[in-house]
Amino acid sequence: MPELPEVETAVRDLRPHLLGRTITGATVRWKRTVAIPSATAFVKQIRGYKITALTRRGKHLVFHLHSKSKDRKYLLVHLRMTGGFCIDEQRIRRDKHMHVCFQLDNGLELRFRDPRKFGRMWLVDDPDQVVGKLGPEPLDISLREFHRLFETRRGNLKPLLLNQTFIAGIGNIYADESLWYARLHPLRRAESLTQDERARLYRAIRKVLTGAIAVGGTSIDVMYKRVNGMSGRFVESLRVFDQEERPCRRCGTVIEKTVVGQRGTHFCPTCQSVRLLKSIT
Ligand SMILES: [Zn+2]
Repeated sequence: MPELPEVETAVRDLRPHLLGRTITGATVRWKRTVAIPSATAFVKQIRGYKITALTRRGKHLVFHLHSKSKDRKYLLVHLRMTGGFCIDEQRIRRDKHMHVCFQLDNGLELRFRDPRKFGRMWLVDDPDQVVGKLGPEPLDISLREFHRLFETRRGNLKPLLLNQTFIAGIGNIYADESLWYARLHPLRRAESLTQDERARLYRAIRKVLTGAIAVGGTSIDVMYKRVNGMSGRFVESLRVFDQEERPCRRCGTVIEKTVVGQRGTHFCPTCQSVRLLKSIT
C-alpha cells in the first residue's frame, strides 16, 4: 500500500507532465472511485480547469486547479491499496483497470489505474474537507513539535504511528522500519518513552522517509509501480519489513513477525527488546 514516500514519488513523477495543463474532459468508468461529488457532477465540474500545482498531504495527492474565472478547486486522490497513475496518449487503448481518466489539452491522458478499486477521489473547494483532521507532516515538524504530540497520546507505538490523526503519511512498512532504527518495540507504550527515545524515534522516521523518497519508494509486489511502470528501489534497504527469518543487520538475531492491531509487524527481538518493554511498563 502506497505510503508517504510512494505518494511523494508519484507527485514528483507527475509534476513535470501536468503543471500548466488544462483538463479538457474526464471519464469515470467506476463511479465509486469518486467520493465527492457524484460521478456526473465530477465530470461536468472539472472540465476547463488548469493544473497549477501538485502537492502531497499525508498519503493524498493534491491537485491545485484554477479556472479562467479565477475560482479554485482541489482534486484529492488517495491511492489506497493498488491505485496509481499513468500518462498515455489519448489514442492508446485503456486497460480495464483504468477507472478515471483525465484528457489534457496536449493530447495526453492522465489515467488512474486501480485493480482493487479501493482508491478514492474528491473534488472540493477546500482541501480541509478531506485532510483537515490529519496530523502533522513528519518531514515538516520540529523535534519540539514532535515531543508535544506525545503529551495527549497513549497506547502502543505501532498503532499510534499508523494513526493518521497523530502523524500523517506513515503506514505499515515505514512504521516497522522507523521502530527498528529507533530500537523501540512496536508494543512500547507511547507514554512510557523517555525524552531520548522520542528523539530517536523522530530521527528514525525522518531518516527512513527521506531515504525512501530518494529512491522512489518501495515496490514490495507488482501492485505498487511508479508513474508509467517504474519500480521504487527502497525494497533493497528494508531492515525488518518483509525480512522475517532473516538476520538483523545490526545484531544478527532472527527478525520476527507478529501481529499488532491486526497488522503484520516485523521487529528484532534483541534490538527492540521485549525485556526493556517489560521493565518499563
Ligand atoms: Zn537486532
